[in-house]
Amino acid sequence: MKTRPGICQRKRRYATRVEADAVALRAEVTLRAYKCALCGQFHLTSRTKGLQRPRVPHGDAVSG
Ligand SMILES: [Zn+2]
Repeated sequence: MKTRPGICQRKRRYATRVEADAVALRAEVTLRAYKCALCGQFHLTSRTKGLQRPRVPHGDAVSG
């Protein structure tokens, strides 16, 4: 994920994912922690739509 500098500046930073996750769990809304490429620390985002796990295609018979 590419983070804009302005967003990085404004967001709360967390030194570790554990710390960010702890805050996210206590929040009233669904938050996700992600590592920021700019500051190298963690931010929380409430945008989860683009972060869903990829669908697993039907048929798990993998040969080869
Ligand atoms: Zn940042």
